[in-house]
Amino acid sequence: MAIIPIRRAGDPVLREKARRVRTIDSSIHKLIEDMWETMYDAPGVGLAAPQIGVSLKVVVIDVGNGVPPIALVNPEIVKRSGERKVDEGCLSVPGYRGEIIRSVKVVAQGLDPKTGKEVRVRSEDDLLAEALEHEIDHVNGILYIDYLPSPDALVPMGNAPEITA
Ligand code: ZN
Repeated sequence: MAIIPIRRAGDPVLREKARRVRTIDSSIHKLIEDMWETMYDAPGVGLAAPQIGVSLKVVVIDVGNGVPPIALVNPEIVKRSGERKVDEGCLSVPGYRGEIIRSVKVVAQGLDPKTGKEVRVRSEDDLLAEALEHEIDHVNGILYIDYLPSPDALVPMGNAPEITA
């Protein structure tokens, strides 16, 4: 396992639509181990592969609160409901946070890297809904700052935001 430097906004890899994983082989398992280690070191509650320079659709999330950690390959949001304001941060935009609108609940779908089988993840937890949207945005080349009404809405991080991922 290794801690990989996290790419920052402005790096083109964060703006690519990441490729789908065709085969979950040992390189994908190694990638996921590196992502866990890098995320916990940061520390953050989620990380997407493009954030460590790998343009593949792979995400890891651990929001705590008794919710088991989740790794998903080729994830997508298949259902969203509700709207709420959240105070969000991103490991690729260090030192800043911003208030944006996220869904209240989401259902995500993807492959469980351990079994290779398709799984659905229902967000029973607000942070999990936010993290799923945040990470799945990353593999589609989207950053939360894209949702800010203006660049002024990006504020220096005084208090920690709800999520940094
Ligand atoms: Zn992020």
